[in-house]
Amino acid sequence: MDAADITADLEHVLIPADKVAERIEELAAQIDADHAGEELLLVGVLNGAMMVMSDLARAMKSQLTVDWMAISSYGSGTQSSGVVRILKDLTTDIHGRDVLIVEDIIDTGLTLSYLVQNLTSRGPHSLQVATMFRKPEAFSCPVDVKYVGFDLPDEFVVGYGLDYAGRYRNLRDVATLAPHVYS
Ligand code: 5GP
Repeated sequence: MDAADITADLEHVLIPADKVAERIEELAAQIDADHAGEELLLVGVLNGAMMVMSDLARAMKSQLTVDWMAISSYGSGTQSSGVVRILKDLTTDIHGRDVLIVEDIIDTGLTLSYLVQNLTSRGPHSLQVATMFRKPEAFSCPVDVKYVGFDLPDEFVVGYGLDYAGRYRNLRDVATLAPHVYS
């Protein structure tokens, strides 16, 4: 059986892959410059941050380590509720470490607020946040986000790690989905 071509499910491309790659290089250079002499621990949030984490880590020149958390945020369809459960915790003790949370996308910021609160309680030396994408609603979230790849309109997007029903993470561009996908 032939697998369906995922591009047939797209409505329009918001950010093409080459722009994503360019922005990753810029962010990596900025993070390297801001953290000269430090060894950052990059904490990625599975599964969405898989692409940004691996691209950012490879683009950075500083010494670093990575770890992952998996969380589920309960919500219906395309909206998160802010009720968060840890499915997989870090394997690293972050006490005294310089930590950078690497997120795919911040929408309401509820997931991130939980994460920041949770990791802060573990006593890191510093804790900062990088996200590849940010939606407008995130501006009302009190968490300071130091590094942002792109500000997006308030539309549901897929690609570059972002899914709909587990699919489309492997799309290189960031795009909206055609209506037939939701019906
Ligand atoms: P928040 O807690 O900030 O409202 O939601 C963050 C999470 O919601 C993200 O980690 C992601 O799983 C999901 N999310 C929010 N906006 C989008 C979007 O446009 N596309 C996809 N695929 N997921 C999104």
